[in-house]
Amino acid sequence: MEEKTLFQKIADGEIPSKIIYRDELCFAIYDINPQAPKHILLVPLKPIKRLSEATAPEDAEILAHMMITVPKIARQEGLTDGFRVVINNGLIAGETVPHMHIHILGGRPMHWPPG
Ligand code: 5GP
Repeated sequence: MEEKTLFQKIADGEIPSKIIYRDELCFAIYDINPQAPKHILLVPLKPIKRLSEATAPEDAEILAHMMITVPKIARQEGLTDGFRVVINNGLIAGETVPHMHIHILGGRPMHWPPG
């Protein structure tokens, strides 16, 4: 059996982190190193390594569900003015945890292009 990912350990309570949202497919936590006043990570319970390794049709329901859940969490967190959604896929994009997750950032103006 593959070793648990960091986020699986958090989901299982083996690494402490406040779970701010949880359902049957995904959960959300605050990022430990926030890049905005609100920086949330939405993580699938299934340890899909990265977006480019998600497969159809198996993972389609999970990914669609997560996208629909993003605005729900943004509302819950008071991000009424807007928010940014980021997925870092691969080292060159800044991926550091190989368990796919969606960053939800808000609470300050965002710039474009991103760094
Ligand atoms: P990535 O760089 O893979 O797109 O995103 C991984 C994110 O996980 C980073 O923003 C990093 O700050 C966050 N992170 C790393 N370790 C922990 C942890 O133990 N707890 C929490 N809450 N976030 C973490």
